Amino acid sequence: MSLKQYKAKRDFTKTPEPRAEDHAPEKKKPKGLIYVIQEHHASRLHYDLRLEAKEEKETVLKSWAIPKEPSLEEGIKRLAVQTEDHPFSYRDFEGTIPKGEYGAGSVKIWDKGTYQPLEKETSKWVIRIQGVKLQGAFALIKLKAKDPKDKNWLFFKHKEPAEK
Ligand code: MN
Repeated sequence: MSLKQYKAKRDFTKTPEPRAEDHAPEKKKPKGLIYVIQEHHASRLHYDLRLEAKEEKETVLKSWAIPKEPSLEEGIKRLAVQTEDHPFSYRDFEGTIPKGEYGAGSVKIWDKGTYQPLEKETSKWVIRIQGVKLQGAFALIKLKAKDPKDKNWLFFKHKEPAEK
């Protein structure tokens, strides 16, 4: 996935969202990879989880829309629908996407910090999140797709892996 989908879905003369060009991480960035969750009051409230990752030599934010508030409690699994990669500059975005535009509604940061990958396979990521609300090990597990268009994952608090 590249930022093509991100650009194709948006009219940057109308939305205040960042253009995709500014994607390079600045030099003075916190140690670790960026983690952010944006609370998005679109037609349905959801939480957009974004994780910094390298994609085709570009730094992007891998993205998932989570319909219910993420939980710190082990055993509470949230559906997380993978959405298009977002530009790195989206990490700070807060604002209102106007009516009629893609994702219309207000966006604010719900939690942010950094993460470290502990395990990263195609369908399973285990990460350590250092946020304000979310902290500790979390998993993202891709569900078996009936249709190639299905991009359903589960996001949940993982038990702490044994120290190596
Ligand atoms: Mn959203």
